[in-house]
Amino acid sequence: MKKFVDESCIFCKIIAGDIPCARVYEDERIFAFLDINPIVAGHTLVAFKAHYPTLLDAPADEGKALLEAVKKVAGALLGVTKAGGFNCIQNNFRCAGQTVFHSHWHIVPRFDNDGLPDWPGGKYDDTSTMQELARVISTHIDSGAAGDSQ
Ligand code: AMP
Ligand code: ZN
Repeated sequence: MKKFVDESCIFCKIIAGDIPCARVYEDERIFAFLDINPIVAGHTLVAFKAHYPTLLDAPADEGKALLEAVKKVAGALLGVTKAGGFNCIQNNFRCAGQTVFHSHWHIVPRFDNDGLPDWPGGKYDDTSTMQELARVISTHIDSGAAGDSQ
């Protein structure tokens, strides 16, 4: 049986109201609050209320509530900050920059010429290398070995 609250998790404590936060949205499944170290003002974290350490631990039926909440928060950020766009960033595991192991999305307002770095764009050696990698990934997905770890 999976544990859906982790007493040592800072986000579980925030969601339970044991640690203060700047809350912007809450429903039955989702809790959203301002990041304490924002990339820009308005940078918001949208988290599952349940303690899923990474996205792979979250059941797919949480997805609808998550998407609805992300859209509500992002729409509000566009209206309030007058941003021209936004990034949804979702870090999984330490090497990808995850520091809080309670799955969450970063919603970051973006502005023209805001100076934030773009992702680097790499290149495959050739088209066949790219196609072969796609084939291997696709086979892995079809085998059922990837995805929801529930
Ligand atoms: P990640 O690195 O994707 O796991 O993101 C964790 C985020 O949580 C970081 O951007 C932190 O600034 C943010 N954070 C950590 N503690 C708090 C807190 N008490 N209140 C609000 N945001 C927090
Ligand atoms: Zn937690």
